[in-house]
Amino acid sequence: MIQHECGYEIDIRCKKCDKALIYNERLGIHCPSCGREVTLLCHGCGKKW
Ligand SMILES: [Zn+2]
Ligand SMILES: [Zn+2]
Repeated sequence: MIQHECGYEIDIRCKKCDKALIYNERLGIHCPSCGREVTLLCHGCGKKW
């Protein structure tokens, strides 16, 4: 589960290895297992994650 700055939370998983994705400011949303990076718009406020 990751939380956007607006407070919206989403449970998102890697399509490749099915691990829960994590967020940090440097890497953005990414998979801790394979390193796959995901660009996502927040469904709550519509801004880039
Ligand atoms: Zn992965
Ligand atoms: Zn948001």
